[in-house]
Amino acid sequence: MKKPFVTKEQVDEIVKTYPTPFHIYDEKGIRENARKLKKAFSWNKGFREYFAVKATPNPFILKILQEEGCGVDCSSMTELMLSEAVGFTGSDIMFSSNVTPAAEYKKAYDLGAYINLDDYTHIEFLEKSAGIPETICCRYNPGGVFSLGTHIMDNPGDAKYGLTKEQMTDAYRKLMEKGAKNFGIHAFLASNTVNNDYYPTLAGILFELAVELKEKTSAHISFINLSGGVGIPYTPDKEPNDIMVIGEGVRKAYEKILVPAGMGDVAIFTELGRYMLGPYGGLVATAIHEKHIYKEYIGLDACAANLMRPAMYGAYHHITVLGKENEPCTHKYDVTGSLCENNDKFAVDRMLPKVDMGDYMFIHDAGAHGYAMGYNYNGKLKSAELLLKEDGSVQLIRRAETAKDYFATFDFCDILKDMKY
Ligand SMILES: *Cc1c(COP(=O)(O)O)cnc(C)c1O
Repeated sequence: MKKPFVTKEQVDEIVKTYPTPFHIYDEKGIRENARKLKKAFSWNKGFREYFAVKATPNPFILKILQEEGCGVDCSSMTELMLSEAVGFTGSDIMFSSNVTPAAEYKKAYDLGAYINLDDYTHIEFLEKSAGIPETICCRYNPGGVFSLGTHIMDNPGDAKYGLTKEQMTDAYRKLMEKGAKNFGIHAFLASNTVNNDYYPTLAGILFELAVELKEKTSAHISFINLSGGVGIPYTPDKEPNDIMVIGEGVRKAYEKILVPAGMGDVAIFTELGRYMLGPYGGLVATAIHEKHIYKEYIGLDACAANLMRPAMYGAYHHITVLGKENEPCTHKYDVTGSLCENNDKFAVDRMLPKVDMGDYMFIHDAGAHGYAMGYNYNGKLKSAELLLKEDGSVQLIRRAETAKDYFATFDFCDILKDMKY
């Protein structure tokens, strides 16, 4: 059973100030989860989570994570700017970009961020754009398929990211010639894994690579970045990951591979996004239409512009009809948005309690890659983001877009510049 972190009564209060649709985040859940992650890796002296900003690029959320000791993982100019504005600097920032413009390398370099190179050719590109920092990271792509046991998790051989194994060695040598002294290794091999073996297996691969790179190049390896990919159960039947088991699994690989190689000082970094925020954000929308044709439809005041994952990936997001948590799910609906796109459906053939017009729908697990992936198709405006604070109060952490925002990028006529909406 998935339980929303707000009740109908709370939403009744909230909508007096902030109408639906809105994204809402649970500060308490975010903090508790961040602390648990830290605890799971407390055996590693240098451990640090670098929150993947792209998942939830809101400065108020970043501030909470900063207070919990996290750094940030950025991959664009605006993510760097946002992080800088929140007060992240130097080693607080991982810059894990790809197809990187020169100006972004320059910005990352000037901030003193850890730069994570996505390709061998980026060494010279970075040198020309900014310079080679003393500490530098390379992203590894082992190719082939990535499996856990007999299950194929993902297909790195088809992914655009990272360097081959040979290139890793060559890159380390070249970077050493150019003055680099400390090295990191990074890899992201599977997304949204709901499996306690992902990180330990990945760690094993990267730890062995680290030993090999050290032997071949004598480079000093100071950190290994396990990146993102620890997932969340979107469907209610799935067991969530157990971060304590995951941390322990990584520790075992560390003791087995790195410690005997005299590399017991290597710091472990993570770049989690979904795991840090996914369950602690929900999209709240109101049922505004019902329609009975060949199927039963419930239409919401939110659409794929607010949460794109179902339309883009066919992703499941659990829905709770607020106030009807204990009613039986007797009705089968497609729950849709208003885009002129038939894939604008939050749910297909979903069993729910009978929905009445005006009911609030809580769409679960929208805290990561939710608001962030929003877009403006059909001229739809992005919703507000709210924070449910630990004391139960609600703070507006991003206002809803207005028509004026939407029209702000062209200069056409006064009517559009002076919108009242
Ligand atoms: C997207 C991304 C992450 C975060 O991924 P999650 O699945 O949200 O954990 C981390 N690192 C890099 C380089 C990414 O592109």
